[in-house]
Amino acid sequence: MAEDFDVVIVGGGLAGLTAGMYAARLGLRTMIVEHMAPGGQVLNVEKIENFPGFPQGIAGFDLGPMVQEQAEAAGAQFSMDTATALEVVGDRRVLHCDGADLAGKAIIVAAGSALRSLGIPGEAELLGKGVSHCASCDAPFFVGKDVCVVGGGDSALDEAAVLAASVSRVIVVHRGPAFTRAQHVAVERLQARSNVQTLFETEVVEICGSETVASVRLRTDGATRVQELAGVFIFVGLEPNTAFVRGVVDLDPTGHVIVDAHLQSSVPGVYAAGDIRQGSSGQLVSAAGDGASAAIFAARFLRA
Ligand code: NAP
Repeated sequence: MAEDFDVVIVGGGLAGLTAGMYAARLGLRTMIVEHMAPGGQVLNVEKIENFPGFPQGIAGFDLGPMVQEQAEAAGAQFSMDTATALEVVGDRRVLHCDGADLAGKAIIVAAGSALRSLGIPGEAELLGKGVSHCASCDAPFFVGKDVCVVGGGDSALDEAAVLAASVSRVIVVHRGPAFTRAQHVAVERLQARSNVQTLFETEVVEICGSETVASVRLRTDGATRVQELAGVFIFVGLEPNTAFVRGVVDLDPTGHVIVDAHLQSSVPGVYAAGDIRQGSSGQLVSAAGDGASAAIFAARFLRA
């Protein structure tokens, strides 16, 4: 039998934690389900420079626990569990989990995204052996060595800057002709580093090595060549974690939850917040804003 709450929030990233804080402060019995440490992907970010209120920047591993503390102080409860499916049973929305099932009169889906893979030979085999998705976690292993960063968005450029401070050389490999997605400030910062080289219109087609990464095979204009290096950091975008709501709420062709102006999905009482929803700007501050809005609209739904 599922335990009942007013609001069950799936995801303990910035969107989910902020939703939890707001929902609890609105007097709602609130449960946040997160399968890893609360904070989400922000925990891997060395310095966040564009979150309002922190002019010197703030480390993600500081910001995440601070918002968690606020949510807990407001009265939100936490369950360390993995949501596997959502089922609507009358006016209850039952969240099936690996551990204990939970029921909410409203649900806020804030499960965020997973880092996209390249799907190339060697990538899965050498993950953790030179292939990484976190510069601040793994940069110390590559001091004095050459690495490459794959991608051309904010994540790739921010993480390349973190790596450039400790490794010998960073080669940024971007399939496009320019960094059109990334923030101007990140592009300028990277260009100012003497140990960063940029390869445009180039793809990594294979990661090579036996025990650890030894090289990558690069393709430019149809021609391939081998580049020796010790690490491959992959930041090629995000995939929304919506498998557990597929078939229940409407998703767009990229798998994001379709929401209305009140962040409500196609199922009344089920909301989506953060980069899991269609049309998100993908920014941390927007995720927090979404969390607050979803909690307020969920509270209005419950009172109606
Ligand atoms: P993103 O903005 O979607 O960029 C993904 C990059 O990977 C693009 O350059 C894309 O190339 C490339 N790419 C995608 N698939 C590829 C493939 N199969 N092979 C090679 N390259 C591939 O993803 P993100 O950088 O992870 O950022 C996600 C969101 O978080 C964004 O909204 C971003 O603004 C935000 N973010 C913000 C900050 C910040 O504010 N400092 C930091 C990190 C992230 P194309 O351009 O050719 O499509």
